[in-house]
Amino acid sequence: MPTLTLALSKGRIFDETLPLLRAAGIVPAEDPESSRKLIVGTNRPDVSVVIVRASDVPTYVAHGAADIGVAGKDVLLEQGGEGLYQPLDLEIARCRMVVATRRGFDWAGTVQRGARIRVATKYVKTAREHFAGKGMHVDLIRLYGSMELAPLAGLADAIVDLVSSGNTLKANDLVVVEDVMSISARLIVNPGALKLKRGVVKPLLDALEAAAQPEGSLQ
Ligand code: ATP
Ligand code: MG
Repeated sequence: MPTLTLALSKGRIFDETLPLLRAAGIVPAEDPESSRKLIVGTNRPDVSVVIVRASDVPTYVAHGAADIGVAGKDVLLEQGGEGLYQPLDLEIARCRMVVATRRGFDWAGTVQRGARIRVATKYVKTAREHFAGKGMHVDLIRLYGSMELAPLAGLADAIVDLVSSGNTLKANDLVVVEDVMSISARLIVNPGALKLKRGVVKPLLDALEAAAQPEGSLQ
């Protein structure tokens, strides 16, 4: 029987994928948060999980180092999702991608005047497309983390970032001024694995689909 490797990132993606995997009969042997292991076995001898950075999940799957992964729409859009089959929105790790500024910053007025706006984000490609779609020219500044700091430190006028509760923005005196899109995590599959390991991949996809969209929850 072929072996199956799943790529997941620690934290919310792992935590929220866990119940779906369990419904599909797969239970990881340990929690990567506490075990520090990067390769985690499961109750199924033919299935293992590799723990990688959220933004590295598509790379592992595209190159076939993992057969299946779970990645946020934010990551997939930013990286292009090339060489990946994306059969299913798992509807987990839900949040919004937004534009935020310091409270009191006159975003609408600044936009209306056509003033040059500096926007800090780790989602440069997605942000560029968003603003281009509105006919706005902004200077994008690429960051790798702690976007909230950028407007406070005077690095940028605005940020493009993910929010769920809004508590982090609030704690840093930032407010949402535009919605970019809603985000959730998708299942990604290596196309070669789907072909060559179909006997083991397809039943898992079907089980995850049933778990993500249980009958009766469909509108
Ligand atoms: P790292 O923390 O290693 O720098 P990361 O910030 O991309 O990487 P996570 O914070 O675990 O890693 O985010 C993983 C994915 O979860 C994101 O790509 C996104 O799809 C989703 N996500 C991010 N922030 C939130 C949030 N506040 N609420 C819900 N989902 C989120
Ligand atoms: Mg994070």
